[in-house]
Amino acid sequence: MTFAAQTNIQQQASQRHAVIDDLQTLIKFKSVTPQQAGAIDWLNTQLRALGFDCEQFTFNNVTNLIAKISFGDGPNYAFSGHIDVVPASGGAWRAEPFSGEIIDGAIYGRGSADMKGGVAAMLAACRALVSHTVNKQGTFYWLITSDEEGEAEYGSLLIAERLAQQGIQLDGCIVGEPTSHLQVGDTIKNGRRGALSAQLTIKGKAGHVAYPENTLNAAHLSADVVKRLTNIMWQRDEPSSKTSVQITGINVANVVDNMVPAWCEMTFNIRYSHGYKSSDIKNDIQFALADLQQYIDIEWQRPCESFYTSHQTNNCLLEKVEQAVFDVTGSYPLLSTSGGTSDGRFFANSHTQVIECGVRNNTIHQVNEHVPINDLLKIEQIYTRLLKKLFIGSFNNGSEKPD
Ligand SMILES: [Zn+2]
Repeated sequence: MTFAAQTNIQQQASQRHAVIDDLQTLIKFKSVTPQQAGAIDWLNTQLRALGFDCEQFTFNNVTNLIAKISFGDGPNYAFSGHIDVVPASGGAWRAEPFSGEIIDGAIYGRGSADMKGGVAAMLAACRALVSHTVNKQGTFYWLITSDEEGEAEYGSLLIAERLAQQGIQLDGCIVGEPTSHLQVGDTIKNGRRGALSAQLTIKGKAGHVAYPENTLNAAHLSADVVKRLTNIMWQRDEPSSKTSVQITGINVANVVDNMVPAWCEMTFNIRYSHGYKSSDIKNDIQFALADLQQYIDIEWQRPCESFYTSHQTNNCLLEKVEQAVFDVTGSYPLLSTSGGTSDGRFFANSHTQVIECGVRNNTIHQVNEHVPINDLLKIEQIYTRLLKKLFIGSFNNGSEKPD
């Protein structure tokens, strides 16, 4: 074995070690939303050491980090991630949830999969990219928040606003959420459905049940509303991205049995296909209820826009991610838009391509959340491969031998 090959193996071994250590370090910060608990400070230090310029700001207890490294002219790509986690109290954990303990070849801890694992893997990939001596191009941003699992009011939304204020337009954004199903890299998300909640109030007319002709029964009206909402034909749905309306509550406050109720409150949630924007959904629902309009008030809540990134002719981020996954796993990933919303929605627009690619999501938000070390190493390899495709121009046209 040549000296160079030996050094290469040693370097790989030490880098692989680094991703495990880094994930354990990240898990130990008790960064339950919105507290960063030192996790963002630590990332800030790591990224500065790699040559990034870091801007960290806190607003309403939410801490955000925008880190930037420029290699010269070329596209702007970003990595979007969160270090906040959902609480871990209760349940029979095999290890203390903020310990990062390794059991049976897996790292246990709250956030190990969602998504401190992705953050640690991208950090390792980033180290490899920066240490590459070949000419690099473009600018790489890290966009990290401590408010993804919560209301997401002051997290990635504020980061996206700050980038816009600075006139920065991203060409692409990789989100490190756990998207894989049975094997790392088997599924990536090239979009997400949108979500919208509503509180609907129905106003009827009270009166004696024996004289219904003088009343307007709000409970009866609510049945009509449910039927209309659940029978809307969503013309822009696609087989892989369907719209559904779910009634989440109906409340008729009536305590006597001889009174027609005048009032009903209903709540519902819509998960909608990427073919729609929230304004389209509101219009379609208003249209379905148009002739009941005088009896109804709707208050819209918690809008989360849909997004979708398809293949494109030039600089196709989706293709680069698919290829990076293939290079490492030997299979192309399935494209999906399923699941809840993600912070990808704040960065996606007609110019910015957004792709989510990360470890498996089978234990996220659960007791005993964990990530097998092999999975962590695999996602690190995929990210390393991807960063080369994004920032080393010669890597794509074959003049640099892929490793
Ligand atoms: Zn997450």
